[in-house]
Amino acid sequence: MRKIGHFIDGHMVAGDAKRHGEVFNPATGEVDAQVAFASSADLDAAVKSAAAAQPGWAATNPQRRARVLMKFVELLNQNMQPLAELMSREHGKTVADSVGDITRGLEVAEFCIGIADLQKGEFTHGAGPGIDMYSMHQPVGVGAGITPFNFPAMIPMWMGMPAIACGNAFILKPSERDPSVPLRLAELLIEAGLPKGVFNVVQGDKDVVNAILQHPGIQAVTFVGSTPIAAHVYATAAAHGKRVQAFGGAKNHAVIMPDADIEMAADAMIGAGYGSAGERCMAIAVAVPVGEATANRLVAALKPRVEALKVGPYTDASSDFGPVVNGAARDRISGLVDQGVKEGAQLVVDGRGLQMQGYEKGFYVGPCLFDRVTTNMDIYKTEIFGPVLSIVRSPDYETALAMVNAHEYGNGVAIFTRDGDTARDFANRCQIGMVGVNVPIPTPLAFYGFGGWKRSAFGDLNQHGPDSIKFWTRTKTVTARWPSGIKSGAEFSMPVFSETAKKT
Ligand code: NAD
Repeated sequence: MRKIGHFIDGHMVAGDAKRHGEVFNPATGEVDAQVAFASSADLDAAVKSAAAAQPGWAATNPQRRARVLMKFVELLNQNMQPLAELMSREHGKTVADSVGDITRGLEVAEFCIGIADLQKGEFTHGAGPGIDMYSMHQPVGVGAGITPFNFPAMIPMWMGMPAIACGNAFILKPSERDPSVPLRLAELLIEAGLPKGVFNVVQGDKDVVNAILQHPGIQAVTFVGSTPIAAHVYATAAAHGKRVQAFGGAKNHAVIMPDADIEMAADAMIGAGYGSAGERCMAIAVAVPVGEATANRLVAALKPRVEALKVGPYTDASSDFGPVVNGAARDRISGLVDQGVKEGAQLVVDGRGLQMQGYEKGFYVGPCLFDRVTTNMDIYKTEIFGPVLSIVRSPDYETALAMVNAHEYGNGVAIFTRDGDTARDFANRCQIGMVGVNVPIPTPLAFYGFGGWKRSAFGDLNQHGPDSIKFWTRTKTVTARWPSGIKSGAEFSMPVFSETAKKT
């Protein structure tokens, strides 16, 4: 049995775990590895190493820091295939999808190569008589990132790349369900020339998360996962005086207008609804056709496409999507589909109980398509996070927009239309962080910020893009005057740099 430990102070370490977790291969349903859950001594060791390494790393000039990231990007490209296969083995997604996961993270590393430009401060010469004023954006210190299972490379890199590029040291707590790729990222960073201690990985579940949230040696926490945990992380880290941002769950809608290209919209729903078995925070979970005729055309276009989807193990390159992450996820998704049927939604395609020949114990859920879902049903309100697409028919555009805005989540949304005015109005009035116009998964590129609204995100700065420099630095503003400049005697009133200050 493979044993998975931590990466602390530049090395793989077993740690002194009292608890362990099982890592499954979702394709076969078998336990593939055992992961150590960090003890408080393991976390202390990571924090100690990070705190020791951080000042030297912050003092390293930005060109040298950038060169480490350049080399890291090169190594990621060289190791792409084995990394993707390792990811698929623990996550279940297809290898092509894992390549996409790593590539989206790699793009954040590429963005961070140029971070010195964004980290520059401002300077005002002569802000007062003989006085110069300037600002510096200094690293926060030691930061921690807590990540979900669904993007085991991209999300650690969303967080870790800007953190270290700005001169911080970073401790990653990956999902306990697919912990291996994050460890490989740490090894590749060392190979790229990163000093030991700047990037550490501690494994574990909620216990180590709660220890991170309270640890006095950690100054900033960034989190991505489900909404209840995001809310807990946000409140607890803030109560312990840490800078914190926490990103939560989603229920993304796609509004399909009567003038949309229905074939294009249907293809988009298939990729965005069922890709990665629906285990994406930017997956489309709800299609909202406007008008009965649009709905009927959409269902007619979707049904054969959904029925033709090929579910299979990652080892079969022709699979459209793989199993879900574990047995609990499979049972939860099937339970929600049962619930939808009970609530009166029309199950057009039923993927429950899928048995994969040769992989009978794998965690497979076939694609499900619901029509005539209503907004009071559990399957509408809950994030299913599986290969289930619901159709909610809307009589008109305003009702569709109001529906999108009333949902508790606000991560992503899309509109399909040929009408520029409608698209523009929708982008303006929807209460959602990321909007697609005829684009089903509008995930911003690395040089823009990623983040939802409402209960999809807690805090005010996004992941990557310019916001990440704000999150990972503290601004210091210096006001400087030199002795040859001014002699005004002691001043007791608030300094205003006015004519009252006498120049010698
Ligand atoms: P999760 O919330 O179960 O776990 C996320 C992290 O929190 C993991 O590292 C886990 O170990 C830890 N954790 C779990 N329970 C905890 C608890 N009780 N106390 C403290 N820590 C705990 O999420 P998941 O199932 O791994 O990932 C799927 C979720 O993540 C979905 O809701 C999805 O929408 C969301 N997600 C959001 C984004 C985004 O950017 N908004 C991106 C990807 C995934």
